[in-house]
Parts: sequence; C-alpha cells; structure tokens
Amino acid sequence: VSDVVLAIDIGGTKLDVGLVDASGEVLHRRRAPTGDDPWSSLRELVDTVTATVESDGGSRPSVCGVGTGGPMTPGGEEVSPLNIPAWRGFPLHRRLAELTGLPVFIDNDAKALALAEGWRGAARGVRDYLAMVVSTGVGGGIVVDGRLLDGHSSNAGHVGHVVVVPDGRPCVCGARGCLEAEASGPSVAAITGRPAAEATPAVVDRTGRLVGRAASTMCVALDLRLVTVAGSVALGWGAPFFAAAQAALDEGCRISYSQGARIVPAGLGGDGPLVGAAAVGRRGRGLEPFGPAADGGFAAPVDR
Ligand SMILES: [Zn+2]
Repeated sequence: VSDVVLAIDIGGTKLDVGLVDASGEVLHRRRAPTGDDPWSSLRELVDTVTATVESDGGSRPSVCGVGTGGPMTPGGEEVSPLNIPAWRGFPLHRRLAELTGLPVFIDNDAKALALAEGWRGAARGVRDYLAMVVSTGVGGGIVVDGRLLDGHSSNAGHVGHVVVVPDGRPCVCGARGCLEAEASGPSVAAITGRPAAEATPAVVDRTGRLVGRAASTMCVALDLRLVTVAGSVALGWGAPFFAAAQAALDEGCRISYSQGARIVPAGLGGDGPLVGAAAVGRRGRGLEPFGPAADGGFAAPVDR
C-alpha cells in the first residue's frame, strides 16, 4: 500500500487537487475554478491528476482526503457548502468513492488546516492549539492533547460563531455579534463601505482585537497556549493585525495557566488546504503521523 494521498480542497471559488506524499510534499497539483458545475470540474481534475501519475509511473494513492466548507453530515456523506449554492445535500462521499475507487475521508476545511499546521506549519510539535482562518468566513480547528476535536456533529472549532460583540451585527447563523459577523472580509467591507484590503488602521486594530478576544476565550476554556491564523484578510493586514490580536489575547488570558499564550501567522500559505486535505485522508486511514491511533486521533510527535 502506498503512502500517497489523493488530496482535494473544495472552495467557493476554486478546486484544488494533488497528490501529497508521506512527508507532506504536494505533487502533481491541478486547479480549476469551482464554477456552476463543481462536480464536472472536480471529476476532470481528478482524472487529470490520476492520468499524470499513471504516465509518470509514480506511486498511486491509497486513500482520498478532502477538505471542504460546511455544513456537512458526519463524514461528508452529504455536503452543503454555504459558498457553493449548486451543492445542497450533495452526496460527495459516494461520488468520490465511485470515481476514485479509494477509501474517501471528508472533513471541514478549517479542521483540515488545523491538522496541516500541526504537521508541517506553525503549530508543528505543539500538543494543544487553535488554528483559525480569517478570510471570506472565519473558521477554526482545535487540537487538544494532540488530538483534533470532532465534537457531537463533527463541527468542533467553529470559532467564527463565538459572540464577541454583545447585541452586535446579525450573523448568517442567526445569532448576533459573532466573530464572523464582525471580522470576516465581507463583514468588514459591509461595516466600513470599502474592501478589507483598504481598511484604515483603526479598522485593522478593531478587527484584530475581536479576533484576539475570541482566541482568548478558546485558550482559557481549553487550556491552549498557541493560536495560528491563516486567511487572506488576516495575512493581508499582517503585523498591525497580529499586534492588536496579541494585545486582546493578553488582556483575556490573565488566569495563571493561560498567561503567555501567543497568536501567530499560519505557516503553510497556499499549500495549507491541500496538505490539510491529505492529513484528513491519513487520519481516516490511520497513517502516520495521524495514526494508527486506535481512536482515530492525531498522534503527531509532540512536545510540551
Ligand atoms: Zn454566527
């Protein structure tokens, strides 16, 4: 059995397919716009990558791992990504299993990214952390005791729907003042009347503080000391954003065990989503470094 994963990242604007080897290197990557018929585009990408491997005589994948936006039923039997209107209750797991002939494992893209950051990114070797994404949406994945948290419906980590502004802006989820309703790119644009990339220093500071406030809640509740942040909005703003987020994190993390918690840029950049999708496949299949833990946990080499 090969140790190579057919990795698929499904986003609202683009689809990304590649092979990822046992060291987390991305090979034979192909991308396409998500478009109006995402399944046709995805099938073509998978066929192209598979054909390239055959002609190269490379290792054929033994498992398929997928990261996609939610919501979804457990295991991705049916997915309904908010940013892909063409898919509502789409039977992604069955379709991919039929197409590839491989065991298929599907998870939330932010949880996938959390695995990737622990494997090869800014949380490498760390046992307890939160990996956030601040972009078109705000999401996250939580690793505690070296294990990715799934939760009752596999949706653990949705830090975007932690309330940071009491009675704040209405959120798509139905609540008010969620982090996503105050700090996502579209929310910032709606609040300020200009794209997030053109935000004033005051807006960057406010948004960074709200992200840091939500992060501090998670750190205190879950006994975490590290938060990584990916996503075009946060990374686009860079140092001023992270300084504001760290200040709010410091203000919230006063109880002794949480003091000194840090919030830092994610380490993987554009490779993160595909590496994360591969990690989902490895975790599902029980391949190192995410297995063969009997309970399906994330058993990466760790230190405190
Ligand atoms: Zn919400």
